Amino acid sequence: MVDMGTEVLLLSVGPDLPWLTGYEAMPLERLTMLVVPRDGDATLVVPALEAPRVVENPGLFRLHAWGEAEDPIAIVARLVGGAQQLAVGDKTWARFVVDLQTHLPQAQWRKASDITGPIRAVKSADEVAALRRAAAAADRVAAQLQGGEIALAGRTEAEVSADIGRRLIVEGHHRVNFAIVAAGENAASPHHEPASRVIRAGEVVLCDFGGTMAAPDGTGYCSDITRCVSIGEPSAEVADAYAVLLEAQQAAVASATVGTPCEEVDAVARRIITDAGFGPRFMHRTGHGIGVEEHEDPYVVAGNTTSLLAGHAFSVEPGIYTAGAWGMRLEDIVVAAHEGPDPLNRADHSLVVVDG
Ligand code: ZN
Ligand code: ZN
Ligand code: ZN
Repeated sequence: MVDMGTEVLLLSVGPDLPWLTGYEAMPLERLTMLVVPRDGDATLVVPALEAPRVVENPGLFRLHAWGEAEDPIAIVARLVGGAQQLAVGDKTWARFVVDLQTHLPQAQWRKASDITGPIRAVKSADEVAALRRAAAAADRVAAQLQGGEIALAGRTEAEVSADIGRRLIVEGHHRVNFAIVAAGENAASPHHEPASRVIRAGEVVLCDFGGTMAAPDGTGYCSDITRCVSIGEPSAEVADAYAVLLEAQQAAVASATVGTPCEEVDAVARRIITDAGFGPRFMHRTGHGIGVEEHEDPYVVAGNTTSLLAGHAFSVEPGIYTAGAWGMRLEDIVVAAHEGPDPLNRADHSLVVVDG
C-alpha cells in the first residue's frame, strides 16, 4: 500500500477477504467490508446477523456489526475519513462501489488486486501444501476416470460432469468449481458447457475439473486438472496430435524454472505445437495462476514478462482443437521452486484408452 500510494484498502465479497482473515463474506445485499487503513487498525464491518459467524481476531481486526436500520456505506465512509487514495476488492459489487463513490466524491480508486495480486501469487510453504492436497484429490478422480471406474459411453456429458463433481467432494474438496466434460467434436470448444450430448464409443472425452479444498485457517485452495481419455483405440490422427500435445506440455513444465519469464513458458509449448503444424489450433494462453481463486496471477501468456518466483503456482495446459472433429488439452498445476519446477499433478499423462 505504501509503494502504491494507497491509504485504505476496502475488501468485500471475493477471495482477498478470506485470504487475509479466514472470513468469507456472504454474497448478500447487506454490506460486509474490511476497512484496512495503511496507518491504523483494520475494522471488519459486518451485518449484525452475520457477526456470529465471524471468528474474532483482535490482532488482525476489530469487529463493527451494523444493525438493520443503519447505513453501512456511511459507516465505511466514516472509517475511510479524509483518505483519498482507495483500493477496492476486484469482485466488490457495483451497488456498493457506486454508493461509496457517492459518499466519497474526492476519492481516487484502484483495484485491490494491484496490491494483493503479486502477494497472493507467491505461495508460502503452507499454501503450497494446501495446493498439493487439492491436486492429489483431483489426481485420484483422474485415476478413477483413467481406470474406467467412471462410465462414459451411453451417458450424457452432464451426467458424467455431475459424477466427477461428486467424486471431487468424496476425495476431500468442499466445493466443486467446474467439471467440463466434452465428447468428440464438443471438445474443440475449450470451455464447453456439458449438456445433453450422449457420449459414444470411439470418442475422445476431455475432462477438465477442479474444486476448492478447505484449509485449516478458514481459507480454501483450488485444484484444476485436465485429462483426456479415448473410448477404444484412438485414430492415428488423434494419437499423433496427442503425442505433440504431451511433448509440448512436458517441455513447458520443464521450462518453468525460477527466473524464467511467464511468456517464455507459453512460447515453449507453442513452438512445439506450431512446428507440428497445429499452431492456429492452440488458440488460448498456456496457463493461469491458482490459489484461493482458480484463475489468478501470474498468467502464462505472451506479453507477460514477469519472471517466475519461487512459490508461484500456475497451470500448464496447452491444447489442440480441430473444429467439428475433436479437441485435446493436458493440464497440470506446477509450482516454481528453487529445486526446479514442482508438478503437483501426477495422474497418468498419456491418452489412456478405456473400454467405455
Ligand atoms: Zn480453462
Ligand atoms: Zn482446467
Ligand atoms: Zn486451468
